[in-house]
Amino acid sequence: MRDAYNRDINYLRISITDRCNLRCLYCRPMEGVSLKGHDDILRYEEILRVVSRVVTMGFVKVRLTGGEPLVRRGFVEFAADLKKIKGLEDISLTTNGILLAKYAEGIFNAGITRINISLDSLDRDKYAQITRGGNLDDVFRGIAAAEKAGFSPIKINTVIVRGFNDNEALDFAKLALTRPFQVRFIEIMPVSEVDTGYPADFLPNRHLQEIIGRHFRLIPLAARKRKSDGPARVFTLPDGLGEIGFIDPVSDHFCATCNRLRLMADGKLRACLLKDEEVDLKAALRRNCNDGELDELIRRAVRLKPEKHDLDCTDKHLKKCHRDMSDIGG
Ligand code: SAM
Repeated sequence: MRDAYNRDINYLRISITDRCNLRCLYCRPMEGVSLKGHDDILRYEEILRVVSRVVTMGFVKVRLTGGEPLVRRGFVEFAADLKKIKGLEDISLTTNGILLAKYAEGIFNAGITRINISLDSLDRDKYAQITRGGNLDDVFRGIAAAEKAGFSPIKINTVIVRGFNDNEALDFAKLALTRPFQVRFIEIMPVSEVDTGYPADFLPNRHLQEIIGRHFRLIPLAARKRKSDGPARVFTLPDGLGEIGFIDPVSDHFCATCNRLRLMADGKLRACLLKDEEVDLKAALRRNCNDGELDELIRRAVRLKPEKHDLDCTDKHLKKCHRDMSDIGG
């Protein structure tokens, strides 16, 4: 399905819950998060219906995110139902890994084989600090369970916060050397009312790349870029088991190749991560609209996609987007 800028929109990211078992400093405020009630979020059947419709419109890829998707009851069964939708070629999951040791095998057996695990520090105290109480050992156990279950690739997502974890860049790079993971550094984005200290805590990925490049030979993979890499600039390391990726949404935005819509837990379909244009699907789903009406709402969201977001790394006025990232799903 083409949008107004001739981009092929074929990827739906679905935030299945606004609840999370962590409170990452840059993602959601400590207090004041008004969690939605059961009736306020889409039921699994409603999400499945939306996915069935977007697939008829040419969507082939779905990523499940949140909040933390694994805190929602019935997740594994839902994943298995999603897998049954014909025409859906790729289902992946983004998780903080805290509950993964328990669910990895079930999720893999349900048919999800690609997983991204968010991990911002390899130091126990710093991990607890940035997640406001998370236990790093839970994540390590989750990663081990994901490997054992057979997930491939396993991607580790690391948001770099200047002055907090940029000094761990080499440790993360070593992880990509010694383990078969794609470690991806993600530039921090200013969202909602979460006061991260932006732009002071922003570090452009090129700077990080330069530091890593002084210690490791980074071999670009661009020439044979894989679809599963999305917007990441990916590098291998000589004799490395894994890879390193850089995702630069702020310093070098990739809006020209954006192929996504975002379905949020409350049933709003969002056209751009960093802009507030949304279309409400929940109301239509709850009055049992017909497929034609639902399709028209989805097309409306595609039409709303802006050419690009207008955030830049010098921007001190950060309230571009009025939802927390944990609401939108990242
Ligand atoms: N709970 C899951 C997790 O932790 O992966 C999924 C939801 S989380 C919102 C998805 C991703 O968004 C995580 O990798 C997180 O680090 C990232 N994220 C959240 N806030 C961000 C921000 N302000 N800038 C950049 N990435 C952010």
